[in-house]
Parts: sequence; C-alpha cells; structure tokens
Amino acid sequence: MYELKNHTETVVRQALQDYLKRKPLSCGCERCQADIMAMALNRLPARYFVSLKGEIITQWESQALPDQARVMAEVVRACQQVDASPSHE
Ligand SMILES: [Zn+2]
Repeated sequence: MYELKNHTETVVRQALQDYLKRKPLSCGCERCQADIMAMALNRLPARYFVSLKGEIITQWESQALPDQARVMAEVVRACQQVDASPSHE
C-alpha cells in the first residue's frame, strides 16, 4: 500500500523530457533514456519519501530539492555521454 519514491527521480525525468524536446538525441529510445536517468541519478542526492500507492504527490515542492540548475547540468552531461556512446548497437 505504501511505497518509497525518490523525488529526485521525478525531477530528473521532467528535466530530461524538457531537454529532449529542445535537443533530441541521435537515439532517444527507452534504453538510452533509462541510461541517462541512471547516470544523472547516481550523481545527484536522493530524496526519498513515503507515498500511498497511486497517490499523486503535490507537496514535494516544499521539500529540500536538488538545485534545478544542478539537475539540468547532470541531465545534459548524461545525455551527451549516452549520445556519444549508447550502450546498445
Ligand atoms: Zn537507444
């Protein structure tokens, strides 16, 4: 019924979608996007919270979040890395 969520993941996913709209990768498949998410998340602090399953979280903006500029910088860096050498053929 309860699940752990990492708010940083939500923020990174949003930042990635925004970035890809402006600057599409040569391959934007699910695998590459997952690689980018993993790479960026490993470099950013996690922000876990408990959520009721299915509940839409709206109060997270009040929590201490990783800096937006830092999130975007890590997303851009991960995009460039994956774009240069995708982990699949
Ligand atoms: Zn790909």
